[in-house]
Amino acid sequence: MALLDTLRSPLGFLQSRLPTIPHLDVLAAEQEWWKTEGVAISGTIDRAGTPWVRMFDQSGRRVDEILYPREYETMLRKGSRSGVVWRALEEKSLIPAYLLMYTISFYDPGVCCPYTVSLGTAVPLAKYGSAELQARFLPQLLRKDDSVWQGATWMTEVGGGSDLGAGIKTIARPGADGWLLTGDKYFASNAAAELAVVAARPEGAPPGVRGLALFLVPRYRKNEDGSLNRFIRRLKDKIATRSVPTGEIELRDSEAYLLGPADAGIYLILEVLNLSRVANSVVSVALAQRAMADALAYGECRTAFGKRILEHPLLRRQFDDRLKSLRSAFALAWESVRLLDQVWMERPPYSERYHLFRLVAHLAKYWTAEFAVDTAKWAMEVHGGLGTLAEYGAERWLREAMILAIWEGTSHRQILDGLEVMERKQAHKMLFAQLAEIAPAAELQEMESEVQRLLNLPPDQKEAEAEAVFRRLAVLSAEQLSRKYSQ
Ligand SMILES: Cc1cc2nc3c(=O)[nH]c(=O)nc-3n(C[C@H](O)[C@H](O)[C@H](O)COP(=O)(O)OP(=O)(O)OC[C@H]3O[C@@H](n4cnc5c(N)ncnc54)[C@H](O)[C@@H]3O)c2cc1C
Repeated sequence: MALLDTLRSPLGFLQSRLPTIPHLDVLAAEQEWWKTEGVAISGTIDRAGTPWVRMFDQSGRRVDEILYPREYETMLRKGSRSGVVWRALEEKSLIPAYLLMYTISFYDPGVCCPYTVSLGTAVPLAKYGSAELQARFLPQLLRKDDSVWQGATWMTEVGGGSDLGAGIKTIARPGADGWLLTGDKYFASNAAAELAVVAARPEGAPPGVRGLALFLVPRYRKNEDGSLNRFIRRLKDKIATRSVPTGEIELRDSEAYLLGPADAGIYLILEVLNLSRVANSVVSVALAQRAMADALAYGECRTAFGKRILEHPLLRRQFDDRLKSLRSAFALAWESVRLLDQVWMERPPYSERYHLFRLVAHLAKYWTAEFAVDTAKWAMEVHGGLGTLAEYGAERWLREAMILAIWEGTSHRQILDGLEVMERKQAHKMLFAQLAEIAPAAELQEMESEVQRLLNLPPDQKEAEAEAVFRRLAVLSAEQLSRKYSQ
């Protein structure tokens, strides 16, 4: 039972996997807050359903406020104060931020979306914003009290999120002080954020992804009369998480500021996505752990055929096997955190290590999200019929897990982008060289030839056959890396 006990708390699991954990006291306090206050708030917000948008105030002025239960702010600000964003830039490391996200998402996976997109706003601003832009906006994103600003990362439009080059129709025109953006963003999480990074095409730029640029868009116009710089058309009434408001955003000559060189925009967009994909992997593993912890608690008290269901050999084996898979999934996700932590300040042209990171991040995003959905489904089954009821956590974890394989790039996207970085940058060779230090040579050689065979296929066949190979590569990498994290 001792091994299964590590499932019961996020910090307990992290301590069982990582030799050193910075700011243990901060994580312990975060975990305690969630147990004593956060869980109740999070449950209430989830049950309250999709929040509303209040579009006009009493004088008829457009305000576009999202009406959440009051406690939502308490919950949201808690993680911000603890350092999901400010620690990254102050400590020049992403490790504390992702450790916090792991701890928090065991209790509420959805709220890590606002944290992730706020990080995805602060980082490009800190890396690519002019000194003036940084002085004007960065301190608000890095505040340590409840006045901290929220960020958002809006790329997807109605035409599609996978093919951004074709899907993005938002146009940027030069304005008096910066740029003016006009277009509609169709999936915009953290819709009321004070700042957003937004992908748009400067007028006259080439078609496709190469013509895209990344802009910073404040919620209010510069004139300081409180007029909105962008509008929330509506919030999505969606399956999955309710602790993140996802809306449709209208940009109408919205004041915007260019980040980095206009012709390098696609690199900046991908850097933002990388931060989110790694967060998605971390959240996926924490969600899977939470689903297992609830299943464990249920299995310990429900009886069938004269004993606790956990004591039945078939179910017990499933728990043991799934714990192994959880540890492997964690190892893969954490490897993507570790590698990102080494390369996140790089700018194009990137190092070889950056390309290795990209491959590991695609493998992790793909595999951990699939694992989270599968585990949430299994945890519901362990609860039997009760698992389908909204009053038990299993129903919520399955609902929340469903989103993880879709946003930040679907599983298809991860496979195809993973294929690309192997083909163009030979990233798999770097991965195999790393794994060679821990993995059995024969298994590795077999995998390597399988990858090479795939890469040598004609284009259509290569795509058609990619998933099985990518999945095997993800599982093998996860299992082998898990040995590293057990040492
Ligand atoms: C709740 C929620 C919140 C979101 N928040 C944000 C946000 O804040 N900012 C943001 O920018 N976006 C956001 N998104 C959008 C999300 O990133 C997209 O939904 C996702 O990237 C997929 O794009 P799409 O929905 O347009 O699907 P499409 O691009 O239309 O794809 C449809 C299907 O076709 C598949 N497909 C596409 N191309 C290929 C191919 N070459 N080979 C095989 N299959 C392919 C896709 O994988 C998918 O299964 C959010 C989405 C949701 C659901």
